[in-house]
Amino acid sequence: MQPVQRLLTPGPLTTSIHVRQAMMRDWGSRNDDFIALNQSILDQLVSLVEGEDEFVCVPMQGSGTFAVEAMLGTLVPRDGKLLVLVNGAYGSRMVRMAERMGRPTLRLEDPEDRPNDVARLDEVLETDSTISHVAIVYCETTSGILNPLDQVARTVARHGRALLIDAMSAFGALPLDARSTPFAAVAASANKCLEGVPGVGFVLVRRDMLAASEGNCHSLALDLHDQHKALATNGQWRFTPPTHVLAAFAAALALHQEEGGVAGRYRRYAENCRIILEGMRRLGFEPLLEVPLQAPIIITFKMPGDPSFDFKSFYDRLASRGFVIYPGKLTQQPSFRIGCIGALGAADMADALEAVEIGDG
Ligand SMILES: *Cc1c(COP(=O)(O)O)cnc(C)c1O
Repeated sequence: MQPVQRLLTPGPLTTSIHVRQAMMRDWGSRNDDFIALNQSILDQLVSLVEGEDEFVCVPMQGSGTFAVEAMLGTLVPRDGKLLVLVNGAYGSRMVRMAERMGRPTLRLEDPEDRPNDVARLDEVLETDSTISHVAIVYCETTSGILNPLDQVARTVARHGRALLIDAMSAFGALPLDARSTPFAAVAASANKCLEGVPGVGFVLVRRDMLAASEGNCHSLALDLHDQHKALATNGQWRFTPPTHVLAAFAAALALHQEEGGVAGRYRRYAENCRIILEGMRRLGFEPLLEVPLQAPIIITFKMPGDPSFDFKSFYDRLASRGFVIYPGKLTQQPSFRIGCIGALGAADMADALEAVEIGDG
């Protein structure tokens, strides 16, 4: 059954009927069956990065931003210093969070259509020994650009600093293996590439770093150390867990595994991305990014220069056919975005292109 709305956005996304059906029962948050469901989610998330005994998963209520803010607030000590790699809105958001919580913060900025500059990062870490942590956005959803996570991770590790990753729009579809990529923590959420519903995020963090973070956090609710401590004691959340969202998340993770895990999901998204890119090019639209920089997550197209093109009516025509796209978030160039993630496949991408073509004519 086709959903009424197909969301070609960066999230929330189109979900499977199985995920939505999983929300049809109520759970007592202190019951054994819920505790077991919750624990199995946390264990699966650790396995997705091959974190084994080194990493622990701490869930956090709210949208993805809550998990990112919890990660920065808990892991960067008050006398630490955070360097944020910025090439879009989500990098900038981490700078604002860290400044708001009073952590000394530096930004290393690149244009929105350029990946993080690893050579400059190396220089900055060489000259400033007071930087304790570096934060990166794996796929910067602003443009859809893929940042050089591996090179950044190796550079940060070589200088003996800790890497914090915002992998919100990458986790579950782009590779991340703790055995080969050194990092301290990664934050993501249920409702992007894992195809759950919105309402919960999580942070996978090295056990030793979490243990050393007691008292760091500026916030009671966002303190990952305390959140984990409660869960580790009796398997229960400190405060009301989003029970239905977690039940849906468990169903979404089962589908993820059925599809072949990260590699399987990557394959479907890469094919979706290829279909949209080729089709839109054929219809005269130009992508912002060069192909090697494009992650198969969301594609930014330049707003057509043709004065007869009106984005509002383009958007409305697609919406009337059940497709939701996203206005650009770029600061420099007028653009719009088409996502290729969520519970959608090649046939949905073809339908979307047909809607664009008819709308275009
Ligand atoms: C979606 C996203 C977030 C979190 O956004 P929320 O609206 O709070 O869920 C953070 N970082 C990146 C890179 C994202 O794509």
